[in-house]
Amino acid sequence: DIALYEAKKNGRGRHQVFAGDMDDLLLRKRKVETELRKALDGGTGIGLAYQPVFAANGKTILGAEALIRWGHEVHGALPAAQFIAIAEERGMIGQLGAWVLQEACRFAVRTELPWLAVNVSPLQLRDAGFAEQVASILADTGLAPQRLQLEITESVLLENSDASRAALTALRESGVGIVLDDFGTGYSSLSYLRRHAIDKLKIDRSFVRLLDGEANAAAIVKALIDLAVALGVDVTAEGVETEAQKILLVAMGCRQFQGYFLSPPLEPAQLLGLSGLASPHDVVPAAARA
Ligand code: C2E
Ligand code: MG
Ligand code: MG
Ligand code: MG
Repeated sequence: DIALYEAKKNGRGRHQVFAGDMDDLLLRKRKVETELRKALDGGTGIGLAYQPVFAANGKTILGAEALIRWGHEVHGALPAAQFIAIAEERGMIGQLGAWVLQEACRFAVRTELPWLAVNVSPLQLRDAGFAEQVASILADTGLAPQRLQLEITESVLLENSDASRAALTALRESGVGIVLDDFGTGYSSLSYLRRHAIDKLKIDRSFVRLLDGEANAAAIVKALIDLAVALGVDVTAEGVETEAQKILLVAMGCRQFQGYFLSPPLEPAQLLGLSGLASPHDVVPAAARA
């Protein structure tokens, strides 16, 4: 937390080094909170980037993930994970999450993307009205539930909360895809995979990063892919940065790829301008997957 505003070593130098005491940190968080509220209320300075997910051929776009961006005029572009954490802490994640869902679904209907994935905080899922909120956003925007995927983390499943479980069940029954994000980084209990219905696993980039150097990482990734195949769920490798990583992943049976090697997160207009958006018959039949 102390490093919250430390300049990224390779960043654009817009972050201020901040290593003050706790009072300062609290003050800074409150300030971020106030500014974030303003941005949300005014709909300014806040937006979504879209990172496409590719098939093994590196060309066919299977779908995309929405990633929040907040270009703050004073603080610069704060990393998503940092202001998401503040939003969670300050009780704003509900409002922020609703904005993200609305914006993402509105965008998705304008594209030929087979699906769009949206990250969901565990706190959103715990809210009793969450499944209904998603349903009403889908109805308002006209997006088919089958074209929305929600990315959750292992912590949601481990919480074992009735509200979260009921929300996941209702969403999945309505056709929304449930994706387990950052797979492998959470607690190592795999029993939730048996108890919970999941449509896709995303292998965390911390494993993918080590693929071409570390034998243990390669063994873990292979085991995770085999596990997904055995469970009959899709699997995406995230944070694919090199061709060597992609080649290894293809050889291990992975069929979905996301990362800087394929494409960084894009501005909405850039994504709309991309060719290679898969038509539905490119992605639906499992037999057609090369
Ligand atoms: P995530 O869901 O695991 O998203 C992937 C992150 O990896 C994104 O960072 C993306 O920009 C980055 N990334 C993609 N390809 C590569 C690569 O090849 N190499 C490396 N090093 N990084 C890559 P980002 O956008 O900063 O988001 C960080 C995290 O913040 C996300 O991790 C997610 O947990 C959270 N987040 C982002 N947007 C939202 C949102 O709308 N709602 C919620 N609740 N969380 C969000
Ligand atoms: Mg994600
Ligand atoms: Mg992820
Ligand atoms: Mg990750």
